[in-house]
Amino acid sequence: MSNYNIETKCVQGGYTPGNGEPRQIPIIQSTTFKYATSEDMGKLFDLEASGYFYTRLQNPTNDSVAAKICDMEGGTAAMLTSSGQAANFYSVFNIANCGDHIVSSSAIYGGTYNLFAVTMKKMGIEFTFISPDCSDEELEAAFRPNTKAVFGETIANPAVSVLDIEKFANAAHKHGVPLIIDNTFATPVNCRPFEWGADIVTHSTTKYMDGHGAGVGGCIVDSGKFDWTKYADKYPGLCTPDDSYHGVTYTERFGLEGAFITKATAQLMRDFGSIQSPQNAFLLNLGLESLHLRIKKHCENGLAVAKYLKNNEKVAWVSYPDLEGDKYYDLAKKYLPNGSCGVVSFGVKGGRAAAEKLMKNLKIAAIETHVADARTCCLHPASATHRQMNEEELIAAGVPGDLIRYSCGIENAEDLIADLQQAFDKID
Ligand SMILES: *Cc1c(COP(=O)(O)O)cnc(C)c1O
Repeated sequence: MSNYNIETKCVQGGYTPGNGEPRQIPIIQSTTFKYATSEDMGKLFDLEASGYFYTRLQNPTNDSVAAKICDMEGGTAAMLTSSGQAANFYSVFNIANCGDHIVSSSAIYGGTYNLFAVTMKKMGIEFTFISPDCSDEELEAAFRPNTKAVFGETIANPAVSVLDIEKFANAAHKHGVPLIIDNTFATPVNCRPFEWGADIVTHSTTKYMDGHGAGVGGCIVDSGKFDWTKYADKYPGLCTPDDSYHGVTYTERFGLEGAFITKATAQLMRDFGSIQSPQNAFLLNLGLESLHLRIKKHCENGLAVAKYLKNNEKVAWVSYPDLEGDKYYDLAKKYLPNGSCGVVSFGVKGGRAAAEKLMKNLKIAAIETHVADARTCCLHPASATHRQMNEEELIAAGVPGDLIRYSCGIENAEDLIADLQQAFDKID
């Protein structure tokens, strides 16, 4: 599918049925797969033959859906995970060990921040968080000899800041490490980070990709472009024999195009087991089939709501990258020329109390710990997803205490605006 446009890939990528086979990706709801001989199965365990033996490692439904996302991102290999959290954890832990260091944008999802700053720190991996708006010199200064990767989000959740992907990619490559981009909010419909130098892309498929609030899931895609063997001493896990897998050297056996994902599957999925259920992968694929249509509507509604909020005197500030005059407008025009996403962040005059009152009075937008869904929803991150952060950390993450994250669904924009207006009318 690699020569087709993104819309065609959304609908048809990843799965091409043979004669008389199911038109839709079948749900292979089976934990295990049958073989005639132990030798046949042994070859699979040794990664000498490809095939299925146990769904924790691989499943045909999941593989078809991962192949579609891989195609959409323009990658060489991909895997599904049980959640976006698992995808981000694996993407880093696949190349960083105890004693290593990662440079990360500070404007990232609250769950990812906690994973990095608290849980992975306990595993001995240290993170330096740096503003996405940092100067080249500041970025340069964040690297250490034991730095193994750079991490950022295309559009940060919930700050809706846009990352200068090329700047971060150049810095990463100068130091011989890959750039990992969480592309959840932009989706490959609006931005394909590999085209701007990113090496690994992750997704919380829970958001726009699924799009209907039906299944939690994640995905990791490899561009196949980062040359691990050039920095073999830095990435022994990929470039030297894996004793836990019969001495296979991933870069030798699977090439640059397959090493990263094969290692993440053979080691991390084997040991941590964060698989996506085939049923959820099927639902995810239904979402992907209409992603290109929905994203357009999300963006259209996002811009309409952002413009309305901008002209509302009860609103202290609005962040939306497609809004002229926004701090990230120029970066959005460069990296997201067809639109950014449906998420608008804004502050209500009167701070937390006014924000809570406004949200309570909304009728269409429901208060949810969710975002990027067909149904409009809203959240006050400082008291929900980011509540573990202190005021300083909130500011660094681009999430001030008065921020409301308003995620435009695919309803009618005039209805969303009328709903906001009636709620604003009830606060003074
Ligand atoms: C939601 C989200 C995650 C975490 O994904 P889950 O599927 O909830 O585990 C990671 N990154 C971003 C940008 C997100 O929005």
